[in-house]
Amino acid sequence: MTATLRNVAIIAHVDHGKTTLIDVLLRSSGSFRTGQQVAERAMDSNDLERERGITILAKVTSLVWNDARINIVDTPGHADFGGEVERILNMVDGAILLVDAAEGPMPQTKFVLSKALAIGLKPIVVINKIDKPDARPDFVLDAVFDLFAALDATEEQLDFPVMYGSAKQGWMSDSPDGSQESIGPLLDKVLEHVPAPEVEEGPFRLLATTLDADPFLGRILTGRVRSGTVKPGQSVKALSREGDVVESFRISKVLAFRGLERQPVDSGEAGDIVSLAGMTEATVSNTICDPSITEPMFAQPIDPPTLSMTF
Ligand code: GDP
Repeated sequence: MTATLRNVAIIAHVDHGKTTLIDVLLRSSGSFRTGQQVAERAMDSNDLERERGITILAKVTSLVWNDARINIVDTPGHADFGGEVERILNMVDGAILLVDAAEGPMPQTKFVLSKALAIGLKPIVVINKIDKPDARPDFVLDAVFDLFAALDATEEQLDFPVMYGSAKQGWMSDSPDGSQESIGPLLDKVLEHVPAPEVEEGPFRLLATTLDADPFLGRILTGRVRSGTVKPGQSVKALSREGDVVESFRISKVLAFRGLERQPVDSGEAGDIVSLAGMTEATVSNTICDPSITEPMFAQPIDPPTLSMTF
């Protein structure tokens, strides 16, 4: 068990380098087991995604850096099915905004950034692909700043930390011509700028954020534990957004994220992102909670962003 925890989202336009960055972060922190196929890239394990070349499901990877566990949540940028992006962003306390150093901000950059800013996240900006011959980091940084401003970022959000680097070459730095050392400085920035999760009082509650299926465990819901703890064998219920009981069931497994994998754990603690098995009907946007709870949880409502900037 690590002492501190961080939950951070990675947001970017398609092809700006999320998958490459997550691969290199896992590798640098030693989270790939020896012999594990690095070639099968971290976030592209889903066949459909590989086919389409896009990220559809939110996936969590997790690594340990300087005694802190960092859960990294990949966030879809291309479409929003029933508030999925909001729910995903509600699991985290910070975001890494990845922007291609040649291309600059693109429509998906704007789409997900607008949602991240609206819920009050303070993104760390990473200007990636600085190794490209046509990289123009100063121009792109200005464009990112203008985009933040156009999306009504607060003073604090506008004061974003910036890193430059090449995920492909495995380095990040504070300046575009800085030392090409390693990816460590970005993980240091995450520990410095992303707050530890706030733990709320009370019995177990989790807002189900994503749904998937495991051949052995069946239906699996993933979300962040808002309060209390959850253990295998525990009796819980699922509440709909209207507050109706969808089902009462026993948790069969609690899984936590470790590197690229999910592993069974004895308990899921408040603040952590975990997957639960044991339900047959409960689904995304349900509140999975202790039987004593009667009020469902919601992803923070987000006002439509001001889209005053065109691309
Ligand atoms: P994603 O769609 O955001 O997950 O992007 P990927 O990580 O799949 O990267 C898209 C393409 O950009 C791939 O061909 C990568 O090899 C390439 N790429 C990623 N990072 C860098 C980088 O830092 N420099 C360069 N030159 N190419 C990169």
